[in-house]
Amino acid sequence: MVPSKFAYHKPTTIKDAIALLTAHGDDSKILSGGHSLVPVLKLRLNDPEHLIDVSGIESMGGIRDNEKSITIGANCTHSEIANNAALKEHAPMIALAASMIGDIQVRNFGTIGGSIAHADPAADWPAVLLAADANVIITSVDGNRTVDVDQFFKGLFMTAVGEEEIITAVSIPKTAFNKNSTYVKFPQPASRFALVGCAAAVANSDGYVTEARVAFSGVSATPFRDGNVEKSLKGNVLNEGSIATATASVADGVSVMSDHFAAENYRKHMAGVYARKALSALS
Ligand SMILES: Cc1cc2nc3c(=O)[nH]c(=O)nc-3n(C[C@H](O)[C@H](O)[C@H](O)COP(=O)(O)OP(=O)(O)OC[C@H]3O[C@@H](n4cnc5c(N)ncnc54)[C@H](O)[C@@H]3O)c2cc1C
Repeated sequence: MVPSKFAYHKPTTIKDAIALLTAHGDDSKILSGGHSLVPVLKLRLNDPEHLIDVSGIESMGGIRDNEKSITIGANCTHSEIANNAALKEHAPMIALAASMIGDIQVRNFGTIGGSIAHADPAADWPAVLLAADANVIITSVDGNRTVDVDQFFKGLFMTAVGEEEIITAVSIPKTAFNKNSTYVKFPQPASRFALVGCAAAVANSDGYVTEARVAFSGVSATPFRDGNVEKSLKGNVLNEGSIATATASVADGVSVMSDHFAAENYRKHMAGVYARKALSALS
């Protein structure tokens, strides 16, 4: 299939990109790595008249290792993130999740900004960013605003980003729980998207859990943290017993997806299996 006709713009600054977005409103779409948008255009599920390619905006690229956080530019590809030394050291689940996305071509083109803007329920980033307590930096004519990732994913392909806004960066705090973190996934065998993806980040003091963050992709239309698992782990030693107790009813009360790849009960069961895998790797 061939997309409908569109005008192509390639701004080199965020300001110019926002001016184009504001001028063309509903008739425009941001283009980043194109790995989700181009198939959508080819299937004519969307037919914007203007494509605003942000891949040439330098200030939206690069990974900065700051004193208390690591800032990932929205244009960073999954490959860049997978290979970043600061992320490997301070938030290993971030680099690990990036290395598990799709195949090498997808990782070399797809970006973190494009992925979270698209908000595919089976994407890997939502689980890890929720577990990491990340912030998303969103820019518009009014300047930057910072959105706590807990408030970012609103539903199936829905986020907190407004029509005339651009995601410009993601910030990962340097915390004890992020330093001790991991990501595991049960991949769809062809695309590698997550049928279940579980990110776990656990801080300990004297062997006892002081903070646990456990989040899932692929299980529900909206990615989520499982508060019951997190609460159950807090104050305990992370071992086989406490993990089994905490993960006995993963995703309870959550509307679990069902499709031809994985039925609801199976997916829920696998969410428990993958939560145990992730937490066991940290014990
Ligand atoms: C074969 C294949 C396998 C894949 N496997 C996986 C996988 O295993 N796990 C996984 O998580 N993903 C997977 N993906 C998706 C991949 O990670 C995409 O790269 C990602 O979903 C979209 O990123 P992109 O940079 O290509 O964005 P684009 O396709 O360019 O854009 C996607 C959407 O985001 C909007 N957008 C882009 N950038 C911004 C921005 N900065 N601010 C606001 N809006 C923006 C666009 O307008 C569009 O609506 C796969 C994709 C393919 C084709």
